Amino acid sequence: TAAVRDFTGRDPRDVLHEVYGYDTFRGDQGDVVSHVIGGGDAVVLMPTGGGKSVTYQVPALVRPGTGLVVSPLIALMHDQVDALVANGVRAAYLNSTQSPAERQQVEQAYLAGTLDLLYVAPERLNGAQTLNLLTRGRLSVIAIDEAHCVSQWGHDFRPDYLALGDLADRFPGVPRMALTATATPATAREIVERLRLDGARRFVASFDRPNIQYRIAPKVEPRKQLAAFIRAQPEGSAGIVYALSRKTVDQTAEFLRGQGIDALAYHAGLDGSVRAAHQSRFLREDGVVMVATIAFGMGIDKPDVRFVAHIDLPKSVEGYYQETGRAGRDGEPAVAWMAYGLGDVVQQRRMIDQSPGDRTFKMRLGQHLDAMLGLCETVACRRQNLLAYFGEHAGPCGNCDTCLEPPETWDGLVAAQKLLSTIVRLQRERGQSFGAGHLVDILRGAKTDRISQQRHDKLATYGIGADLSDQDWRSVVRQLLARGLLVAQGDYGTLALTEASGGVLRGETPVPLRRDTLGRTGGGPRVRK
Ligand code: ADP
Ligand code: ZN
Repeated sequence: TAAVRDFTGRDPRDVLHEVYGYDTFRGDQGDVVSHVIGGGDAVVLMPTGGGKSVTYQVPALVRPGTGLVVSPLIALMHDQVDALVANGVRAAYLNSTQSPAERQQVEQAYLAGTLDLLYVAPERLNGAQTLNLLTRGRLSVIAIDEAHCVSQWGHDFRPDYLALGDLADRFPGVPRMALTATATPATAREIVERLRLDGARRFVASFDRPNIQYRIAPKVEPRKQLAAFIRAQPEGSAGIVYALSRKTVDQTAEFLRGQGIDALAYHAGLDGSVRAAHQSRFLREDGVVMVATIAFGMGIDKPDVRFVAHIDLPKSVEGYYQETGRAGRDGEPAVAWMAYGLGDVVQQRRMIDQSPGDRTFKMRLGQHLDAMLGLCETVACRRQNLLAYFGEHAGPCGNCDTCLEPPETWDGLVAAQKLLSTIVRLQRERGQSFGAGHLVDILRGAKTDRISQQRHDKLATYGIGADLSDQDWRSVVRQLLARGLLVAQGDYGTLALTEASGGVLRGETPVPLRRDTLGRTGGGPRVRK
């Protein structure tokens, strides 16, 4: 541990050098730091790994008083404070895991003015006790981390963030900062409004992570595809595999272990000690693959994660970006791989239908999903699509699957018409609706019990799609769903037409579809930009 020092009034570059051992500020860091030291408010949008911590820690050290850091995750807080203390910084946190004696010690240090950084969870700032304490001492800067949590429509809303706007009145004259790694232009506007940062200067770094190679494959046998993908990575690569449910996490970790891959599970249903042990192995050892729900990852500082894999479709592009952003924080080549299929689309539509919340809320969830599907089904550059979502314009990247192996397209109009007219006939003639499985059976002329019982072999469209495989048809359905030319409804994901379907039936809407390339499970040439 370095000796404790006081950096008040020092040159920020010296602080950067002495505390962190860095030679120069990176990107916008230097500008943010001088702006805040000069007393200005700031909104900092920087991708994960961009170096946000320095932008509030250095001003907190240089300005007289204590920097207040609002951070939503206790685990993250502990890590940051430990690292700072090890570098000789007077840092501490206040949270519910502390004993009263520990808390008192921190409070006294704050009041005595011998604390440079104080980390607090947002819910503590809703209580009079913490606010009273803070007003009795001196704050140098207020930094609100993970500021996108204030967005009610975002993927990560935390109600406690809403009250943080009041800090403007409580602490006039103290510069305030909002920081986040995931903000669409709309979320950024919401942050400014709710946190009352209208006068703040904005610092927007590029969200591009050029060393990450994006790959999205059609899902057939996800576990086998995943194992093949992992084996295609260099020996000893550490990675994270994300799945939606605890059950899938457990089963996938077990499957991978059976394949000789050093995989561990991580989710909220596991015992705290098991979670801690798994996390510690992942951080300390080489080549551990963590199979996890999205509960894992925030605040995990492991720069050499070589891949992030998704075997379930993330709910939003923000979530996808944040999760894949945990790969390659050291700047070395890394891969973001995902397998996604028709089942994901149907399942997520159902989850949205069943979610509590009003129509507007569900509509927003639907928009998040649509954007995610757009990324999955694009025949253009993935990175271009991703960056455009965050309001950034870029050319094709040369380092994603669609750039490296441009997808073939085929004219799907006739296939789409066959499918849509089958749905229409069943609805009109029999008042029936079905999910993708049975519809594909009808189109392919399958001889199942259900088909003979329902006498669906008498339909005019029975067997008219035998030229395409089962897998091809699922790909057609998936892409029509993604484009809103078809909609999945109810518990069983029965398929129905949309307003846009008419254009397809009349032959007015072209339906270019991407040909699924099932053989490609990842790996591929690792091209860096
Ligand atoms: P963020 O919070 O934006 O995800 P961090 O603040 O954790 O990013 O920084 C990401 C990584 O970049 C860390 O490993 C950090 O040590 C490194 N880093 C930050 N600033 C600099 C700099 N000026 N020079 C070199 N490395 C830096
Ligand atoms: Zn590309």
